[in-house]
Amino acid sequence: MPSIHLKTPIPGPRSRALADRRSQAVPRAVSQLTPIFVSRSEGAVIEDVDGNRYLDFAGGIGCLNAGHREPGVVAALHAQADRFLHTCFMVTPYESYVRLAEKLNALAPGNTPKKTLLLNSGAEAVENAIKIARAYTRRPAVICFEDAFHGRTLLTLSLTSKTHPYKAGFEPFPSDIYRVPYGQPAALLEDTFQRVVAAESVAALIAEPVQGEGGFIVPPPGWLTAVAGICRKHGILFIADEVQTGFGRTGKMFAIEHEDIEPDLMVTAKSLGGGLPLAAVTGKAEIMDHTGPGALGGTFGGNPLACEAALAAIQAIENGGLCERAMHLGGQFRRRVLAWKDRFPMIRDVRGLGAMQAFELADAESTKALTKHCYEHGLILVTAGTYGNVVRILMPLVVTDDQMNEALDIMEAALTTVEVA
Ligand code: PLP
Repeated sequence: MPSIHLKTPIPGPRSRALADRRSQAVPRAVSQLTPIFVSRSEGAVIEDVDGNRYLDFAGGIGCLNAGHREPGVVAALHAQADRFLHTCFMVTPYESYVRLAEKLNALAPGNTPKKTLLLNSGAEAVENAIKIARAYTRRPAVICFEDAFHGRTLLTLSLTSKTHPYKAGFEPFPSDIYRVPYGQPAALLEDTFQRVVAAESVAALIAEPVQGEGGFIVPPPGWLTAVAGICRKHGILFIADEVQTGFGRTGKMFAIEHEDIEPDLMVTAKSLGGGLPLAAVTGKAEIMDHTGPGALGGTFGGNPLACEAALAAIQAIENGGLCERAMHLGGQFRRRVLAWKDRFPMIRDVRGLGAMQAFELADAESTKALTKHCYEHGLILVTAGTYGNVVRILMPLVVTDDQMNEALDIMEAALTTVEVA
């Protein structure tokens, strides 16, 4: 079965008809990066409602490291669907929530005993990590970074950096959030404690080990360790946001493992659920247990279907050697894209860690033109960057070498077209 098979011009007639209905029924604020509607998917391939097949290098924005409809995930979902769908873990608990918590506690970096709280989305998990940190430290302030993305709820929007389209119009934001430059000398933090906010007022610092939406920005080696060290010195909790970097994407189960850091709290989501909505806060048990019964939770957090899917997805990542595969795929991408740099002056930078790779173009307009050319030729890609000028890859890590080469061929042809235009 070919990965790419285009039967109609993109979008086809069925997708166009659905787009008309969508524009009547769904607010325009929910953006649509490709003009197609999906009918099915498998591995690294998506088929649209007109029968066109594409390589999916967006992976639902980094949610499908284990692949579309990973067989173990699908089997676990069928088995769970035959047992029960929802009871609410806070009312009538079930074993899979506990098993997943045990698994995440074991996987989280460091030897300190851990506990895990399950939630529905990355933003909800970030909110809970901040709540936990504030309750534990009895301090109000949070430090976050320029170009960070932590979600779209009001608290997480205040931690997110980009103004348009995310923040503008949604003010006012919660107070006591302080933003500092990412990847700059960690000693700047000490200066911030002198000039902006007292260290003893800061509950937590939250950092993406590699910035995702901000444009796949990899900090200098040792920087995260230095930041975590400064946090420790001042009793500030270090929160690693692994929502986009987690579950093998960067070549380790969690990106923070590229340095020898044990975060106080770690937030995961996206590929955790193997395609289902699920998020987690995993942290040092003493911190996680500080708040009393009823203080944390939610109706659907750790839904049984999502827990079963997550356990199967993690097993697929571990048994399939997908961390090693991520390193291999990242190398395959870098070898070709670095060679393009001389041919296409519009490529300003090539960067990433493991399979979390990207190239930066001159401007947002050519980036949009490139991704349009790509989906019209069978490759789905998403952009990133505060200035919208970064092409990033978030394909399932089960993509084959041949599929990777096909995708790179399409990107290369797109660069030729966009460079000429
Ligand atoms: N944190 C990071 C690093 C993210 O990349 C995202 C989403 O892209 C979030 C948090 C928010 O996750 P969600 O969209 O599941 O709320």
